[in-house]
Amino acid sequence: MALGVPSTRTDRAQTVRELLAAGKRSYSFEFMPPRTEAAEHKLWAAIRRLEPLNPNFVCMTYGAGGSTRGRTVNMVGRIATETTLTPVAHLTAVDHSVAELRNIIGQYADQGVRNVLAVRGDPPGDPMGEWVPHPQGVTYACELVELIKSIGDFCVGVAASPNMHPRSTDWDDDIRHFVAKIRAGADYAITQMFFEVEDYLRLRDRVEAAGCDTPIIPEIMPVTNAKQLERFPQLSGSAFPAELEARLRAVQHDPAALREVGMEHATSMSERLLAEGAPGLHFITLNGSTATLQIYQNLGLHRG
Ligand code: FAD
Repeated sequence: MALGVPSTRTDRAQTVRELLAAGKRSYSFEFMPPRTEAAEHKLWAAIRRLEPLNPNFVCMTYGAGGSTRGRTVNMVGRIATETTLTPVAHLTAVDHSVAELRNIIGQYADQGVRNVLAVRGDPPGDPMGEWVPHPQGVTYACELVELIKSIGDFCVGVAASPNMHPRSTDWDDDIRHFVAKIRAGADYAITQMFFEVEDYLRLRDRVEAAGCDTPIIPEIMPVTNAKQLERFPQLSGSAFPAELEARLRAVQHDPAALREVGMEHATSMSERLLAEGAPGLHFITLNGSTATLQIYQNLGLHRG
């Protein structure tokens, strides 16, 4: 199957909704707001190295609190004005009143940013701690979607969990709430990271069985170092498949070999997801560029 290389400036200027409605595959990258000036330099270097790949959009995550929130708004504005890239601004409901959320969305509108990813966010500190809504805020992502849509013609993405969100009581509950976000106006979804293609396919089947055919873009996160062996399953709620875990553990003290196994797995997952009809691929970059560039090259998507 032809992989559908992202090609023109027009592809990048579209909203994600327009791109997907045109039946095009979407290739996108995710960055985090930098905490320091040095981190900001590193991020810009990665952005500049990845820019020639012509991704259809790039995401900037939104922190659980503190100064990085302002940096997200700032970085999204700079990407919109100083690069050829289309930014997607993440926004969470954590510790924000509706008035504050409106204000942030207004700042994006002023910058000409039309793409927002609406997630509820986790409590700062302990992601599984009690979720306490702001007294004048919203409680679930579906309300955030409604709010953004009520403010202007934004294209809104939401999160999907290939292994069920850890706070959902069962799959029916999880899918019902996911579909509610789409019915509230969301245009597409991006998954949490996962390590087994079948997990994505099962989620897609469940969503389709609930009468919802919204595009769900799989997130790709290669394991590139030993710390991630513990961290990624914790962060994502998705365990490594036994065979992958055994291969990674066998080389956990050999950084180059471990990276090779991680990259090989991420590449073969990407190939299979595209062959199974996934509407695109969303790469977590951790604000670097090497792993994403390599997978792009492995997939034959590199035009440079
Ligand atoms: P929701 O869709 O609101 O769901 C949360 C839980 O509540 C689920 O168990 C759901 O079943 C349940 N639920 C939903 N609606 C109802 C209802 N009406 N009644 C009862 N229960 C309900 N976090 C950040 O802090 N910043 C980011 O930038 C960020 N970006 C992300 C990007 C992606 C692609 C993904 C997948 C996740 C991202 N996250 C981010 C993490 C996200 O904030 C967490 O996964 C969070 O725990 C859930 O967010 P959600 O939008 O899926 O929540």
